[in-house]
Amino acid sequence: MLELVNFILGPVQTNAYLIAEPNTGEAIVIDPAWDGHIILAAAQKRNWRIGQLWYTHAHFDHIGGAAAIAEALNPPPAAALHRNDHILWHAGGGGAFFGFKIDPGPEPTIELHQGQILRLGDLNIEVRFAPGHSPGHCIFYIPSAKICFTGDLIFADSVGRTDLPGGDWDTLVNSIRTQVFTLPDDTRLLSGHGLSTTVRNERTNNPFVGARTINADDV
Ligand SMILES: [Zn+2]
Ligand SMILES: [Zn+2]
Repeated sequence: MLELVNFILGPVQTNAYLIAEPNTGEAIVIDPAWDGHIILAAAQKRNWRIGQLWYTHAHFDHIGGAAAIAEALNPPPAAALHRNDHILWHAGGGGAFFGFKIDPGPEPTIELHQGQILRLGDLNIEVRFAPGHSPGHCIFYIPSAKICFTGDLIFADSVGRTDLPGGDWDTLVNSIRTQVFTLPDDTRLLSGHGLSTTVRNERTNNPFVGARTINADDV
């Protein structure tokens, strides 16, 4: 069983996801984007305990709500991040570049890596290392729920930008092909911005990495 609450928060409309195993009340936040008190209130209303914060990557708009959540909870939740994004995390998620100074919250103590299996109640969640948008970007795949949280790797009909520090286009495309397009077609993709989509839709229609791009010469 999995319950999911989606929030759109902050200056660049980032998706934050509160997911819980309702039988135990155990909850985690994937990308506590902004306004942590809103996420916290939603958890408390449902009697869920937020035990961990999982970051797809450390950009400011994905971690900006972490401090408010951590300050309100005892014990504070542990944060999980890939080590390649720690420099970005220490730099406040690069927010200064956009005019946003944030408190990044608790220092990440759980190190994410390719193939790691995270647990939430009875659920297994697979970590897939998917750099390109940032050097330590990861995505979270829940096979039993047919859901993948893709952060800023891929969006409905779009992909993550690669012009920020540590971004790389070829790496991004390779991550999408090897870590997203290898998932079952009916897997729902919940990304860091915008609407949800599916593996099938993006493999077929994504204008940057979909089948139509590969066959562009034939048109
Ligand atoms: Zn980002
Ligand atoms: Zn973002």
